[in-house]
Amino acid sequence: MTSDPTLELERMTWPEVRAALDAGRTTVVFACGAVEQHGPHLPLFTDAEHGSELSRRVAMELGDALVAPTVRVGCSEHHMAFPGTISLEESTFAAVLRDYVRSLARHGFERICVIPSHGGNFAPVTHALPMLREAAGGAHVVAFTDLPAVINTWVRVAGELGVGERVAGHADIAESSVMLALHPDLVRTEAAEAGHPGPLTPELVERLFTHGMRAIAPNGILGDARGLSAELGERCIEALVDVLVAYFRRESSEVTSVA
Ligand SMILES: [Zn+2]
Repeated sequence: MTSDPTLELERMTWPEVRAALDAGRTTVVFACGAVEQHGPHLPLFTDAEHGSELSRRVAMELGDALVAPTVRVGCSEHHMAFPGTISLEESTFAAVLRDYVRSLARHGFERICVIPSHGGNFAPVTHALPMLREAAGGAHVVAFTDLPAVINTWVRVAGELGVGERVAGHADIAESSVMLALHPDLVRTEAAEAGHPGPLTPELVERLFTHGMRAIAPNGILGDARGLSAELGERCIEALVDVLVAYFRRESSEVTSVA
């Protein structure tokens, strides 16, 4: 895992945060993950930990950014049939994001980048964006809202190793490999198995959110987790960081050119 005590707000003192802002580090990045079931082999904090790693790496790439704490619990109603999952109602989740953004903007951050690292948070973040932008006042809120781009990135990277068809978006070979790279001690590799086969079509996403995960995949996996490797996980993280950084740079330059 990436770790830098001058990068993460939670690990810094207030004079350090002030000095960073004064030095022009006026972008802040945070992820919104989940605490929810991820098959019989991955820990419940998979999306939260993945989000934290993505936000640290994206902030380092952007260069002028700090990292705010990951919103660790998200919208996971479709996983509630599995023990341990904790879910926020969409209105609660949106209110948490609003208060995050408002707090960060008050300290002088000028650009706030939001990374949903859980599929179920993408639509709620998209819906909340107008409210977040209003709460941020003059600061610019940019949210990555392209869930298919995440899946496509995983399919592409796994495809390079000949296992692209095992990716379907939840506790599959890509996500399991990401966790193996980040927390090898917490992945029950011997329990990695196949779930509902991919690909993740819009129809499957619709069924997931209306019927819940257990009706589709009793073991909680979309895709196939078998064959996971830390190497694939690292490649998936790097590729997704590239996608995210390009997105935030593009969105920010559009704002600048409009202004
Ligand atoms: Zn996940």
